Amino acid sequence: CMLGLVSVHLCLCPQLSGQMVELFEECQQQSSDLDRKETCRTRLQQDIQQVYAVARLYLTGSSMNGLGCRSSDADLCLVIKGNKRHDPIHVLSVLQRLFKSLSYVERTQLIRAKVPILRFREKGSDLEFDLNINNTVGIRNTFLLRSYAYADLRIRPMILVVKKWARHNQINDASKGTLSSYTLVLMVLHYLQTLNEPVLPSLQRDYPEWFNPFMDIDMVPEGPKHVPPYISRNQSSLGELLLGFLKYYATHFRWDKQVISVREARALPKNNSQEWRNKYICVEEPFERNNVARAVHEKIKFDAIKAQFAESSRILQQRKDLNSILPVRAII
Ligand code: ATP
Ligand code: MG
Repeated sequence: CMLGLVSVHLCLCPQLSGQMVELFEECQQQSSDLDRKETCRTRLQQDIQQVYAVARLYLTGSSMNGLGCRSSDADLCLVIKGNKRHDPIHVLSVLQRLFKSLSYVERTQLIRAKVPILRFREKGSDLEFDLNINNTVGIRNTFLLRSYAYADLRIRPMILVVKKWARHNQINDASKGTLSSYTLVLMVLHYLQTLNEPVLPSLQRDYPEWFNPFMDIDMVPEGPKHVPPYISRNQSSLGELLLGFLKYYATHFRWDKQVISVREARALPKNNSQEWRNKYICVEEPFERNNVARAVHEKIKFDAIKAQFAESSRILQQRKDLNSILPVRAII
C-alpha cells in the first residue's frame, strides 16, 4: 500500500517523498513489538490485580495510536474504578514495591510530575514503560489520534518523520523543556487541518458520538478500531507536506496570538485565560481545556524550537533532500 502512496503522491518532491516512505517503513512499530508490549501488559495486570482486584491496565500512546516507532516506549494507564479517589503517588508507591518483587521487571523509578508516573523496564531488554494512574484522558486521546493516523495514508509517514526530525534536533523532550511527542503530533494534525484544501477534518466535529468526552471509559474503542478514512481533495505529496509544515511554523503561525485547536480544526485567538496567559506555545488538549505544551516555559527553549523550524525549513526548501535535515542512515 505504501507503493501506491508513492505513485499517487509523488508529483512534486519525488526524492524527498520517497525518502520519507523509506524511513517510515524502516522505523514503524512492528507487530512483534506490539505483541511484546501486550504480553507484558497482560502479566502486569494479573500481578496488579492481586493488590487492586478491579484494576484494568490499558496500553496507550504511540504503541496503540499507529504513530509508534520500533524504539517507542510503552505508555500504560491503570484504571481503578470506584467512589474512592486514589492518590496517584500512593498507588504508584504500592506498585513500586510490588514491581520490585517481580522477576520480569527492573529499574523502577517514581516520577513526581503533574501526572505522576512509574517508569520501569522489562528485565534484560530495552523496552521501557511509563505507567500512570487514572489519567483516562490518555485513553480517549489515543483513540482520537489513531483515528487521525488512519484517516489518510500520508498521516503516519508524515508524523513519524517529524518525530524523528524533532528528536534528532533535540526539541522533542518535555522533561527538558521542549516539545512532547504528543504536542508535536497535534501540531502536525493542526497544519493538515488548516491547509486551503485540508488533508484532515475535525474528527470530533464529524463524529461527536464517537469522541464524546463523557463516554464511559470501558466503551472507548481499544485495539485497531478507528473511524472511516477521510476523502481529501488535497493531492500534495509527502515531501510537499513536510516542506509546508516546516514553513508554516517557521513563518505563518503566530505563536503569541494563536492557540492550536485540533478539536475545532483551526487556530483560536489567544485570550487571557489562565491556560494560555504567559505561555510561549499553546496547544489545546482535544478533550480538556488545558495546554499540552506547558513544558515549554523557558524563553531560551522556545527560541531554540522556533530557530529549528526556521533553519530546517530554509535548508529543506533549498536541498529537497531529507538527509539535509535528518541523517536518515544514521538513525535507521
Ligand atoms: P513516543 O513514540 O515518542 O513515545 P507518544 O505518542 O507515545 O510518542 P508521548 O508524548 O510519550 O507520545 O505521550 C504518550 C501518550 O500520553 C499520548 O499519546 C497521550 O495519550 C498521552 N499524553 C501525553 N501528554 C499528554 C497531555 N499533556 N495531556 C493529555 N494526554 C497526554
Ligand atoms: Mg510514548
